[in-house]
Order: sequence, then structure tokens, then C-alpha cells
Amino acid sequence: MRLSERPLFSAGAIAARVTELAEAVSRDCAGEPVVATVVLKGALFFAADLLRQLSVPVTLDFVRARSYAGCNSTGHVTLTLTPEQDLRDRRVLIIEDILDTGRTSAAIVDYLRTAGASDIMMCALFDKPSRREVAVHPAHTGFVVDDRFLVGYGLDYEQRYRELPDVYELLGPEV
Ligand code: 5GP
Ligand code: MG
Repeated sequence: MRLSERPLFSAGAIAARVTELAEAVSRDCAGEPVVATVVLKGALFFAADLLRQLSVPVTLDFVRARSYAGCNSTGHVTLTLTPEQDLRDRRVLIIEDILDTGRTSAAIVDYLRTAGASDIMMCALFDKPSRREVAVHPAHTGFVVDDRFLVGYGLDYEQRYRELPDVYELLGPEV
């Protein structure tokens, strides 16, 4: 596959924005502990950078949601990994790579609510509001993007490109 010649978001621009997000999330948490729930695999790098800059006590957990085949959402979301901690009466921060149709996040929020979380906040690095099919209410988003397919900094295309420090647009087959 071909990537955009230049990054859409450089590692430096991402780092600066992640620092701002960490400050905003810390402010929201007002010194109270939070369960960070990282949505695997895409949010791995974002979460690692964000969490190290939070100024509130954090416990770490993971969820894994399946909905995607290639570039297209199948619309159906199942959770194949759920948090280990008891979430009853806990404040939970969902850390997502990108909000697209909103179906993944909506399914995760439903799960966390059922598990008894008292307060659910979401922080997503990227947001594609024009693609939304299900309402989600992120507390904070890093960058709004239009309908482009992004790779790098954790984001993949068929499991490739996650390790790139910058974020590129996936343009299509090699010519
Ligand atoms: P949603 O359920 O909101 O439609 O999809 C969210 C998930 O789809 C994201 O967590 C991500 O895994 C995947 N996704 C959506 N847009 C993109 C994109 O531009 N690039 C990549 N690599 N994954 C995306
Ligand atoms: Mg994902």
C-alpha cells in the first residue's frame, strides 16, 4: 500500500497535543483515581504517552473490540478482552485511538456501564465526526480529521504501520 509522502501528523505535533490532553484529563479527574481502559491495539502508543503525563493515580486495564475488516467497519462490535478490575463505583477513562462510526466506543461504554462504573470519560486521539453513526460523547479529542484512513502511531492497516512514529494517510495500492 502507498502512504502519503508527508505525515498528516508529525510525532512532534502529536506529542504536543498529547501533553495538552493529559493536562485536560488530569484537571477533569481533580486528584481522584481513575481506571485507564486502553482500547487495544490502536491506542497502545497514545495511552503510553498520555498516562505518563497524568497527575492523578491510575490503574491500568485493557479492552479489545473487534469490528473492522480492512478499511470498512462491519458494524458489529464484540469485546474479545474486558477489564480485570472490579469497576463498580469507579471512574473509568477510555483511551481510544480514533472515533469513526462510534460503534466501538458505544459498545465499550455500554459494557463499562453494565460493569458498574460510576463515571465514564473518553479521550480519543483522533476524531472523524463526519463518519459518525452512533452518538458518542468524548470528554477530549486530540485532532479532528475528515474522512481519510490514518496509519502510524498505533494505527494499522491489516496490522501494518503501527510502529511508525508519525501518522500518515493510507492512499491505496502501490503503483
Ligand atoms: P468505529 O467503531 O468508531 O467505527 O471504529 C473505531 C475503530 O475503527 C478504531 O478504534 C480503529 O481501530 C478503526 N479505525 C477507524 N478509522 C480508522 C483509520 O482512519 N485508521 C485506522 N488505522 N483505523 C481506523
Ligand atoms: Mg481500534
